[in-house]
Amino acid sequence: MTDQFQAYQIGKSDDGQRCALTQLDDSDLMEGDVTVRVEYTTLNYKDGLALTGRSPIIRKFPLTPGIDFSGTVIDSSHADFKDGDQVILNGFGVGEVHSGGFAQKARVSGDWLVPLPDGLDMRHAMAIGTAGYTAMLSVMALEQHGIKPGDGDILVTGASGGVGSVAVATLSKLGHRVVATTGRMNERDFLVGLGAADVLDRADFADKARPLGKELWSGAIDVAGGNTLANVLSQLRYGGAAAICGLAESMNLPTTVAPFILRGISMYGIDSVMAPIAKRKIAWQRLASDLDLALLDELSFDLDFADLPQAAEDILAGKIRGRAVVKVP
Ligand code: NDP
Repeated sequence: MTDQFQAYQIGKSDDGQRCALTQLDDSDLMEGDVTVRVEYTTLNYKDGLALTGRSPIIRKFPLTPGIDFSGTVIDSSHADFKDGDQVILNGFGVGEVHSGGFAQKARVSGDWLVPLPDGLDMRHAMAIGTAGYTAMLSVMALEQHGIKPGDGDILVTGASGGVGSVAVATLSKLGHRVVATTGRMNERDFLVGLGAADVLDRADFADKARPLGKELWSGAIDVAGGNTLANVLSQLRYGGAAAICGLAESMNLPTTVAPFILRGISMYGIDSVMAPIAKRKIAWQRLASDLDLALLDELSFDLDFADLPQAAEDILAGKIRGRAVVKVP
């Protein structure tokens, strides 16, 4: 007899894509050498696109969405994991081509799993999720560039969102002076509470960028792309760097070579999905040590498993502040 479990499932027909909360059993689990009882999941921008079908994120049907989960191993033939281990999963195509975290159970490759680091519980791990882990990958890229606290202001765009809010909290705890941009100036107090020294209206970054602007930022973390990123690049100080991780405004980048060849700036592309496991483990250890859990509680909120479809619409409409944590029933 196989155990039944609840899962969201996205199917496809001639009428398009449909998402439903349904009952599956163990025979529906996908291939893998570790089975996990999912304890918590979360909602990322990409999950919003997947659940609504707004972008072709899901590329295999039927499939359970959810690019992140934390949970407890209940069956493993992988050398690194045994029953009872607490694990985190981010990306690796999960929630895109392999069934993911919007379910009570998931079976995945053990090569994709990160052990829950000391200092974090499973709930906090999903308050961080892919968004927060991407924020840390971005912080690490700026550090590898040589940017240190005291070198100058770091700009974070889309600061009220998932990546942005964790980036602000982490950078400020590390001792950087952080300037946040947001389209929601009513969230100013929230961002100052996370550690932003100043908050700017994202409208200031919306117009076509000049090739070179005033030199303001020693580094930047950008989730927006488009004119916002072009303006950020033109305002980087000599030798500065931007970690590029998102396209909340646009996939395009209408810039010139001027800030690169006249100010020696650099851009670092950030990919969370296929990042090697060794780098992930470092990022998660750093999150456990360098992110203030009280601030993480401030920037996260509980979302009901049943409310994921509505929240998917909300995240795409830019209505979600910080990070949603979903306790899987
Ligand atoms: P959220 O929706 O939580 O946050 C995005 C934020 O971007 C919004 O809250 C808003 O912040 C800002 N924003 C929205 N629309 C615009 C716009 N038109 N112009 C400028 N800013 C805008 O998403 P996440 O933080 O989870 O993800 C952010 C981006 O990063 C997404 O594009 C996502 O796909 C990408 N991403 C990439 C990853 C990678 O591996 N490279 C991993 C994770 C995410 P505010 O209201 O404060 O202005």
